[in-house]
Amino acid sequence: MDKTVVIIGAGPAGIMAAISASEKNKDVLLIDKNNVIGKKLSITGGGRCNITNNCSINEMIQRTLNNGKFLYNSLNMFSNIDLINFIETNGCKLKVEDKGKVFPVSNNSRDVIDLLLKILKRNNVDLKTNCEVQELLIYKNKIKGVRLSHNKIIETDAVVVTTGGLSYPHLGSTGDGYKFAKKLGHNIIRPKPSLVPINIKEKWIKDLMGISLKEIKITSKVSNKKKIFTEGDIIFTHYGISGPAALEFSAYINQYDKINNQKIQLDLLPNYTIEELNHIFQNESRKNGNKLIKSILIKFFPKNFCIKLLNILSINQDLKLAELSKKHRNKVISAIKNLTLTTEGFRSIKEATITSGGISTKEIDSKTMESKLIKGLYFAGEIIDIDALTGGYNLQIAFSTGYVAGYNI
Ligand SMILES: Cc1cc2nc3c(=O)[nH]c(=O)nc-3n(C[C@H](O)[C@H](O)[C@H](O)COP(=O)(O)OP(=O)(O)OC[C@H]3O[C@@H](n4cnc5c(N)ncnc54)[C@H](O)[C@@H]3O)c2cc1C
Repeated sequence: MDKTVVIIGAGPAGIMAAISASEKNKDVLLIDKNNVIGKKLSITGGGRCNITNNCSINEMIQRTLNNGKFLYNSLNMFSNIDLINFIETNGCKLKVEDKGKVFPVSNNSRDVIDLLLKILKRNNVDLKTNCEVQELLIYKNKIKGVRLSHNKIIETDAVVVTTGGLSYPHLGSTGDGYKFAKKLGHNIIRPKPSLVPINIKEKWIKDLMGISLKEIKITSKVSNKKKIFTEGDIIFTHYGISGPAALEFSAYINQYDKINNQKIQLDLLPNYTIEELNHIFQNESRKNGNKLIKSILIKFFPKNFCIKLLNILSINQDLKLAELSKKHRNKVISAIKNLTLTTEGFRSIKEATITSGGISTKEIDSKTMESKLIKGLYFAGEIIDIDALTGGYNLQIAFSTGYVAGYNI
């Protein structure tokens, strides 16, 4: 069988590459080893699909932690606004939420996937699911085809590899593309988990399991004395912390070597100073001395957190405000403003939202996504050594780079 273009991996990058290539009348075969397209896309944004962000291109590049500048061409060629228009004109209305995050109005990733599937069909893209590529076939530094399972060969002179990274491997991204590329001489920057929950050393963290806190601030001093911080929600788990602020924090720590034994400080009420909290506590003790200490805390935090926090601090939860010593008051306020935790590495890459690292951007032409080593070979999406923060940026990167690869074949 001959095909003008073979695309390996029907995630957002591969689907968009198939759409842009087919819109230029190419004969496209899109292959995925899963039984459906967009398996990972379906669970993004907690099933709501935070498809992009409505920020400027410059901001998007700033929020890309590794090799953001590589994206100038692809984001200019197929920007977030282009993606939003594309999705909306094809029938799925989008909305903007806090911090510029864009979601389908229906809050259902299924609507995005159905729309993409409809366009693939309309454009006559040949879609093969349950089909795994085993090898890329090369002759004299030019792509010649792909070998599938059972030694079936498909000849072609253009292949786009959009096999994703290593995170959530049960959804198909098992790092196959890294192996293909490495065999052809591409340099793979060590894949690492990013946007990943953080293991915490302190054993008492288990007592807080399942509790979520809103709008907290996480800070840490990293190797060069630089202070890094993130703000947002967290959830305590049996091993440590997760939730948007913790995930983003992992992406920042990732930039530095030391992800183990790193002291991190949680400010649970960043909008209040220590002085203000002292004032609130003293005022309340004067006015409502008969009330229990937890009655103040409940104004700020979930009830179960207040009880657990007092337990952890070895303060009797039935203590009345008037009975609270200065030492105990300082202890509570210090825990609120400066809850210090020690990292014990990250959860495994299997639990990471994205993979940082991947195919070196130095070996890919940013204007076309073509390999600088092998003619006719293109890369797009998470397989490339580019990773961004949460907020819809990673999907935009996949859609933009996919679009550019397909367009330039
Ligand atoms: C839980 C979770 C939530 C997320 N939420 C968001 C979000 O809300 N917003 C956001 O911007 N990003 C989010 N992301 C990140 C985003 O999903 C990824 O960045 C994006 O899916 C990468 O797209 P991709 O097309 O490069 O790879 P993938 O989506 O991983 O697709 C790769 C495809 O290649 C196929 N494949 C692999 N090897 C082969 C082979 N040998 N033969 C055939 N097929 C193969 C796989 O089956 C897979 O379908 C989230 C990720 C996770 C895990």
